[in-house]
Amino acid sequence: MNKYLKTDEWKIIEEGFNPSNHRASESIFSIGNGNMGQRANFEEKYSGSTLQGSYIAGVYYPDKTRVGWWKNGYPEYYAKVLNAANWIGLHISFDGEELDLAKCTTKGFIRELNMQHGTLKRSFTAVLPSGKEIKADIIRLVSMVDKEVGVIKYKVTPLNFSGKMKVTPFIDGDVKNEDSNYNEKFWDEVNKTVSGTSGFVTLETRKTAFHVCTGMDYKIFSNGKALELKPETSTKTKYIESTVEFQVKQMDEIAIEKYAVNLSSENHPKESLLHNAGNVLKKAVEKGFDRILQEHINVWAKKWEDSDIVIEGDPAAQQGIRFNIFQLHQTYTGEDPRLNIGPKGFTGEKYGGSTYWDTEAYCLSFFMNTAGHQVARNLLIYRYNHLAKAIENGEKLGYTNGAALYPMVTMNGEECHNEWEITFEEIHRNGAIAFAIYNYIRHTNDKDYLTEFGLEVLVAIARFWKQRVNFSTEKNKYVMLGVTGPNEYENNVNNNWYTNFIACWCMEYATEAIDYVKNSNSAKYRELVKKMKFDELYETRDWKNIIDNMYYPEDKNLGIFLQQDGYMDKEQILVKDLDPKIRPINQHWSWDRILRSCFIKQADVLQGLYFFEHLFDDKTIKRNFEFYEARTVHESSLSPCVHSILASKTGNVEKAYELYLRTSRLDLDDYNKEVAEGLHITSMAGTWMSLVEGFGGMRIINGDLHINPLIPDNWKSFSFHIRFRGRLIYVTSSQSEVKISLIRGEKLNLFIHNKPCSVELSKDTIIKIQKL
Ligand code: BGC
Repeated sequence: MNKYLKTDEWKIIEEGFNPSNHRASESIFSIGNGNMGQRANFEEKYSGSTLQGSYIAGVYYPDKTRVGWWKNGYPEYYAKVLNAANWIGLHISFDGEELDLAKCTTKGFIRELNMQHGTLKRSFTAVLPSGKEIKADIIRLVSMVDKEVGVIKYKVTPLNFSGKMKVTPFIDGDVKNEDSNYNEKFWDEVNKTVSGTSGFVTLETRKTAFHVCTGMDYKIFSNGKALELKPETSTKTKYIESTVEFQVKQMDEIAIEKYAVNLSSENHPKESLLHNAGNVLKKAVEKGFDRILQEHINVWAKKWEDSDIVIEGDPAAQQGIRFNIFQLHQTYTGEDPRLNIGPKGFTGEKYGGSTYWDTEAYCLSFFMNTAGHQVARNLLIYRYNHLAKAIENGEKLGYTNGAALYPMVTMNGEECHNEWEITFEEIHRNGAIAFAIYNYIRHTNDKDYLTEFGLEVLVAIARFWKQRVNFSTEKNKYVMLGVTGPNEYENNVNNNWYTNFIACWCMEYATEAIDYVKNSNSAKYRELVKKMKFDELYETRDWKNIIDNMYYPEDKNLGIFLQQDGYMDKEQILVKDLDPKIRPINQHWSWDRILRSCFIKQADVLQGLYFFEHLFDDKTIKRNFEFYEARTVHESSLSPCVHSILASKTGNVEKAYELYLRTSRLDLDDYNKEVAEGLHITSMAGTWMSLVEGFGGMRIINGDLHINPLIPDNWKSFSFHIRFRGRLIYVTSSQSEVKISLIRGEKLNLFIHNKPCSVELSKDTIIKIQKL
């Protein structure tokens, strides 16, 4: 843990500049708008340790994988989200002496992420090696309105001198990825131009040939008055700059407004990229910094209006949940179905910014409930659009008849992860993709989704499972061999309970979906049958046979489902008996030792009980929870949230709270000592789930909304928003009552602590209910 940030309900605040925390802060204070993101690097020169990071959604590079021994079917590459041109750069010097915080002493340094407004601020007084003192106040944002625009207002005041100030705004495309496998640079120059205060650099990614044009313009004000600028310009490879020099007097306030744009060939034809960048930049400059800021704040206000969570009585938990919600909104805004949610969002390079099963298993719920159904639908359509590639991926591995294996990690539908035990074996991801369709329809009642898109995906996934199992004559059952469950601390196991279960569930759900589409739109069904070359009778009969005869490992004495065959042969040690010095075990033990131990990285059987709790009784859930929680080391950030929800479900509020805190402040307190690499965006969605589905007990059962709150002892109250079928609902749970308000939409009948009630708009819409 590293606790150096101040607790504040709406802000993340770092006081005092400590270079050893800088990389961590660069991640934590990242800003983004779903279309681009920027780590909290300094604008001015910084010669200390930094991870430069500016990312453009959808732009990636297929880095050559490092695999020692190539085998058939291995993916060719590992996709990487690219560190793109530095658009924030702004060098400043006084009488030839450069401002560089690595070489100055600083006083009153404050870095502040204002989550309400979506802005990053920094202020400090710097004493340069010569003794010159300057005061700086900087604010920057990437606009939530003009998604290709980022702006900076950099104010500087010389405190104890007058002299010559030099300002050099620049764009530097000569950047690299720290995690490049072969130390290669990924960008080539297409063109560059600079004249006066404005300039552009267009770059092309190697292999993938994405073009990105980054442009800038700037204005300088002295004590509020615009300066007439006569800049000098110069260029280098992939780089342009514009420099102005002028006299400043002691206590003058110099304000530099830098406007930048990033346009990619994902959204513009390559041949008009530069022209369009010019237009977008011109409009931004005309709008001006203050209006861009105000419009941006207005969008954030709306986002908070619909998704804020309030926790009374626990400021650290309050800050934690708002930070998670803030980062999720910055990562994905849902207008573009080609985009998805990388586990680190736009805050670092690790995990390549690509899509994992995290989206379907964790993120969907957050976006569905806070951003709306269309946003959630776009997340599903992303996978629909990748169906042909998933079928191709299946074919590469030897599957036939339109069987789809969705990739474990992807940017464009192709598999781009290279560990065989993950890509070939962690096939449960297919199940999460089907589950997300079910979850979406359960929430929205948008059954047309099945007809339009869902059925094709479900059939292709069911076809995969049908071919992936085999019949064991010894067991007289179907089995599934050689898989990796969600718990990646076991590979190549037989009969992972979760995978066997979700496989059968997928085949069952596909069968239900067939019935629905056939009965509701027979013409479309016939069309789909033709398109999929679907032999309904024969294929569904096979699925049913597998469902009816699947083997599930269990320990009848303990009354638990077994994670996989042979799990009980392992030496059974509990996490509580591990020496804290060897934790996390993945940093202390060899992989060999981890694989042979009973320790579980993340929810596995419990992931299944979370998804499908409606199919199990409470006692079964409790027994399994207690058994597996005692053996789970939670070394994936996706783990504590699922356990927290199940702890709430089984009434264990202390455990639920302990696990909740771990997930909600994972990055702010750097639990895993790795925040410098980027934030855990997808686990943030899990945090939201553990509050709303865990403590809030929110469920949709048979189309009805159920709320069953459970409140930690130290909270006065907690409140959350949810969107449900055209309505916005606000739930407040205190130690003594549950209050539901309808903010938008029609009267709703719902269940609170299993009692039917209703809520409607009007003065009397708030229903107070005594907690049972
Ligand atoms: C987890 C996976 C997850 C990935 C990306 C891994 O550590 O084990 O379940 O998909 O991280 O978040």
